[in-house]
Amino acid sequence: MSRDSFSIKTKTQKTNRKFPVNKIFIFTIIYNSIINDKFTQLLQISKMTKPKILLIYTGGTIGMVKDYNTGALKAFNFEQLLDKVPELIQLNCTINTYSFKEPIDSSNMNTEYYVTIAEVIENKYSKFDGFVVLTGSDTMAYTSSAISFMLENLTKPIIFTGSQLPIGHLRTDAKENLITSIEIACATKDDKPVISEVCLYFEYKLYRANRTTKINAEQFEAFASLNYPPLAESGVHLQFNYDLLLKPPTKDAHLIVRKSLNNNIVVLKLFPGLTKEVVKSILKIKNLRGVVLESYGSGNAPTYPWFIKLLEKAIKNGIQIVNVTQCVSGSVILGHYETSIELKRIQVIDGKDITTEAAVAKLMYLLGEEVLSKDFKKVFEKPLRGELDL
Ligand code: ASP
Repeated sequence: MSRDSFSIKTKTQKTNRKFPVNKIFIFTIIYNSIINDKFTQLLQISKMTKPKILLIYTGGTIGMVKDYNTGALKAFNFEQLLDKVPELIQLNCTINTYSFKEPIDSSNMNTEYYVTIAEVIENKYSKFDGFVVLTGSDTMAYTSSAISFMLENLTKPIIFTGSQLPIGHLRTDAKENLITSIEIACATKDDKPVISEVCLYFEYKLYRANRTTKINAEQFEAFASLNYPPLAESGVHLQFNYDLLLKPPTKDAHLIVRKSLNNNIVVLKLFPGLTKEVVKSILKIKNLRGVVLESYGSGNAPTYPWFIKLLEKAIKNGIQIVNVTQCVSGSVILGHYETSIELKRIQVIDGKDITTEAAVAKLMYLLGEEVLSKDFKKVFEKPLRGELDL
């Protein structure tokens, strides 16, 4: 049974919940055992019964090393991971890696790459107990949010991470982020994975991915989840906030991978002085299907008749308009001020406390699934992956 009641296109795969426990700490490292062309077994720890983790490298700072001749950062050869992080052999798991042929800076991330990431997970889902996805931090909140909608009925952990400094840098944050992400992906309770959702781990905190925003380009604490508390914190101990975690689906629910994303959407951020011409031309874009409207405060917008009329016409023409707040924290409360009453009347979708990143992902996902216009508002306004509070 699918969690998303509007299910249209489905691809299923059986889940593997086997999480064996092995406490023998004898490690044998076997380099370069080939699983297939793309998958290189990086290190194998003596017992085959240990949790198996797939490390997916898409690019980003974490995987770059400084070329000391030129001083420039260059893509990292993943087969040398062990050289950079010898601590990995102390982890009680087996790690395999998959790397993008040409690793990307996350500024070049797009919906086709989202599908690639989702397909790698889909193809290896039954073979691995958890997945750690390395991407650049710049668009990690968007990518991980999208993956959270694309993977329905998850029973295994998908942990996104990266770093502010390359893994080879003396003061790098990459090692801690990587090692703890793998530990989290391995974590079990009563022989079941602790995490069965898409998360983002950075600087000692585990967040629900679709609640995150990149807030800092300088400090190691690059992400925040301002409307939902961390799912876990890493100190002397790794402490999970069990009550905050998404529950896995019922036993017979299989993984569904949603790959149809519609990116004919736009983010329109309000600012005092926004002109009619600009709004009009945005709403006239050919094939435009959705707008994430970043409004003020608790969902407020100008009450100018031209503004409301343009939005109303667009909605009547089938464009889905989602109201999210441009504040980093807090929620849209339609009707709280006079300046949002008209938006409510014309049936703008209430984004509640969703982030812009998650709203973009959810819009692409629901439009891609061709949810009927008459149901769209209702479906968007309910939480599908824990991305908003009612
Ligand atoms: N520009 C890099 C990227 O997003 C930054 C990072 O990895 O943190 O790929």
